[in-house]
Amino acid sequence: MTHITLAKGDITTQHVDAIVNAANSSLMGGGGVDGAIHRRGGPEILAECRALRASQYGRGLPTGQAVATTAGELPARWVIHTVGPVWSASEDRSEALASCYRESLCVADELGARTVAFPAISTGIYGWPMDDGARIAVRTVREADTSVAEVRFVLFDDAAYRAFADAVR
Ligand code: ADP
Repeated sequence: MTHITLAKGDITTQHVDAIVNAANSSLMGGGGVDGAIHRRGGPEILAECRALRASQYGRGLPTGQAVATTAGELPARWVIHTVGPVWSASEDRSEALASCYRESLCVADELGARTVAFPAISTGIYGWPMDDGARIAVRTVREADTSVAEVRFVLFDDAAYRAFADAVR
């Protein structure tokens, strides 16, 4: 059974086996959590991302998929990059968001990671409503078939923390 825990704060400081990056498909860095990970993790992560683009993902990492790099100077061992969907009012993209959590856990299993920290994927620049994003995140992790022992949701502010606390209840 995967144990779900919640923490408030910055995902880059987490002492876990792997942290998940809410990346964009270019894998070349960006704002929000992505920017923080590359800033604190140093250039090694970006160099690995470039190599992944050159070898496997010439057209970018598709939405809903996940891929790992090492974590540079971060306390974690690996960064698992996943691309969340941009929120849409006219199209239901929840399956793509659920896929980010599922595929990240699948990559974590391949790595042998036992503790994994997730941000609230898509709820920043990509505009997903926090309450709904939290429900999808918690439900998907609960239903996942994974050997990961702890999933820690790392929430950046009080509103995000409350949304996840409601979702786990
Ligand atoms: P997306 O493009 O998938 O929306 P963002 O990085 O813009 O990704 O935001 C995802 C969530 O991560 C938002 O709720 C945002 O507040 C939060 N966030 C931003 N920086 C950090 C950080 N350093 N640690 C944890 N969460 C963060």
